[in-house]
Amino acid sequence: MLSLVYVSAAAQPFSEAELQALLETSRRNNQRDNITGMLLYRDGDFLQVLEGPEDAVRATYARIGRDRRHGRFIMLDESHIDTRAFNQWAMGFRRVTAAESPEGFVDFFNRRHALSDLVDPRAEAFHFLQGFRRIA
Ligand code: FAD
Repeated sequence: MLSLVYVSAAAQPFSEAELQALLETSRRNNQRDNITGMLLYRDGDFLQVLEGPEDAVRATYARIGRDRRHGRFIMLDESHIDTRAFNQWAMGFRRVTAAESPEGFVDFFNRRHALSDLVDPRAEAFHFLQGFRRIA
């Protein structure tokens, strides 16, 4: 299986209804394609992990990459995996506020322009994502 982690910036801020529509489509497609993962949204920025069969993950990421609702993609990690980290979720979701970010966590959204400083982007992204999974 393949796991991808990326950040992107919304072309325009998403309304609650737009986020819900996006999630509905994503969950429907991901369930069909055996893809799991998690999506965080904060102030116009997305952080997403996609995991599943390699062909399906690459096809989904290609579709997401053509979506004009967001851009400025930065791929944080691409890894082959044996075990899913988000196996319960066709696409877990949290809308995050700055105040909610757990203390001591790397603030991924603020660090998007200095991501090359990260020693292990995958570990740090998962640490960040799983913090929100625990409080979801
Ligand atoms: P369609 O049936 O063609 O579209 C479903 C609905 O989505 C439409 O009715 C419309 O309301 C809306 N929509 C689709 N494209 C646009 C657009 N360009 N502008 C405005 N509204 C639009 N897709 C996945 O399958 N899995 C994912 O995990 C996933 N994650 C995403 C994460 C982000 C941050 C973003 C921005 C998009 C994501 N998408 C994901 C959506 C993806 O980009 C495609 O829009 C979607 O996969 C198209 O699927 P479809 O052909 O079944 O949808």
